[in-house]
Amino acid sequence: MSILVQNLTKIYARNGETAQRAVDGISFAVQPGEIVGFLGPNGAGKSTTMKIATAYLPPTEGTVEVNGFDVRTNSIAVRRSLGYLPEHNPLYLDMYVKEFLSFAGSLHGLRRSALSRRVDEMIGLVGLELEQRKKIGQLSKGYRQRVGLAQALIHNPPVLILDEPTTGLDPNQLTEIRQVIRTIGREKTVLFSTHIMQEVEALCDRVIIINRGRIVADGLLNELRDNADGSMVVVAEFEQDLADETVLLNGLPGIRTVEVLGQSRYRLTADKNSDLRAAIFRLAADKNLTLVGLKQQESSLEGIFKQLTTQVAPNTE
Ligand code: ADP
Repeated sequence: MSILVQNLTKIYARNGETAQRAVDGISFAVQPGEIVGFLGPNGAGKSTTMKIATAYLPPTEGTVEVNGFDVRTNSIAVRRSLGYLPEHNPLYLDMYVKEFLSFAGSLHGLRRSALSRRVDEMIGLVGLELEQRKKIGQLSKGYRQRVGLAQALIHNPPVLILDEPTTGLDPNQLTEIRQVIRTIGREKTVLFSTHIMQEVEALCDRVIIINRGRIVADGLLNELRDNADGSMVVVAEFEQDLADETVLLNGLPGIRTVEVLGQSRYRLTADKNSDLRAAIFRLAADKNLTLVGLKQQESSLEGIFKQLTTQVAPNTE
């Protein structure tokens, strides 16, 4: 098992205040070769879990093993087994890209030709060739993230833990970094956190959703879609008032509910694979109705995420 989390709890002690249960008895396992999205709203406990898995913070209760090594009893072997890109990607801005990566590699015991070969390989892997002679402080945020990824990979660990690796990137940088993560994911086990559903859809097959320190979903994206009510929601607006003909909407294939939103606006819920929009078009054509609006509502995954992570007051002890 690449990452094994069992009954993990983290309570942050606060001076004089109620302590906070940031992570509350969670368990999950990540198999070698998986790319798993760790998803949850801000404050859900993602960073805390990752800091414990990378042996930067001790657990209050429970265990985490990385590559078979326990974070409490074998933290050095844990750190050797994993690459970590922390949330705010701390880099030495005054250092040159190559200098920094050499430094990072030397901390892992790489020397001379093995070190310079590995630095060059990483520069190639994350696409830093053109920037390799610059100072880190001169790089854009997207390129700094690449340096962070190269740093995390320098010792060729089998497991990568990335804390919100795409936060703050512009759309182009986002696409590029996702591509880099996808490439890395062919060879490594990757656990990355995000609060963006599309990110998970773009990168991984499996998602773990955490909310208020507890796991509220863990499964393949397809399964999650199917297990949720798996419905498609479309809002249709006609020029005419359908009046008595509203009943026609109830006859559409796969239809579950018809909700009247206004005089000629309807929210229709149907089975996911029902091709509802085409059916509405056909109905309008058959009945000489003019369709002035037809909009599919948010993907059901976003719906699931919202449903599972609706904010409530934080856990206190
Ligand atoms: P996420 O990464 O999902 O945004 P975090 O793990 O950073 O969530 O935080 C989980 C909860 O723990 C939050 O309510 C946060 O305020 C609290 N927390 C995080 N770090 C500390 C800390 N060092 N001391 C006290 N509380 C903390």
